[in-house]
Amino acid sequence: MDKQIIKIIKGGITEQKVDAIVNAANNSLLGGGGVDGAIHKAAGPKLLEECRTLNGCATGEAKITQGYNLPAKWVIHTVGPVWHGGNNDEDGMLAKCYRNCLTVAAEKGIKTIAFPSISTGAYHFPIPRAAEIAINEVIDFLNDRPVFDRIVFVCFNDETFSSFNRVLNARVP
Ligand code: ADP
Repeated sequence: MDKQIIKIIKGGITEQKVDAIVNAANNSLLGGGGVDGAIHKAAGPKLLEECRTLNGCATGEAKITQGYNLPAKWVIHTVGPVWHGGNNDEDGMLAKCYRNCLTVAAEKGIKTIAFPSISTGAYHFPIPRAAEIAINEVIDFLNDRPVFDRIVFVCFNDETFSSFNRVLNARVP
């Protein structure tokens, strides 16, 4: 696995010039707050129109749409688990989100993808634990299927940025 493929940056996901950005959506796929709200606002109303045709999304699954007014050509919508203390398969569900997003992206021939920190906002998943899962899933996927040129974790605050960096540096010194 080439560590250079994985980037961790501080910023907003809507500005990312990548083939696909990932949306931390909710089960309805009809928009929400946080990163979901920011993506719909930047993409324009056609995104919601397409999302209405998808009949929602189960937790851990991923569905793809166009990016409309975004610099990214595609948006991959996934629904992370709500944190309920950690004994309700939250870890497994979060891992599934990353895996399914990467699988959908690989099927489309996507080479560059940006992730937000799924579930660590309104869904209250602990950031260090989420970072561990996110980095592990991406590294495992790349080891198995080295089909991406760049995978970016776009961190919206310092706590997220330092957690993701700590985990990546520990995994790949
Ligand atoms: P969830 O419901 O999955 O927890 P949130 O959108 O509430 O989703 O939060 C997920 C993460 O996305 C949080 O770290 C939040 O700070 C971050 N976030 C919010 N807006 C943006 C944005 N424009 N770009 C990247 N990350 C964002």
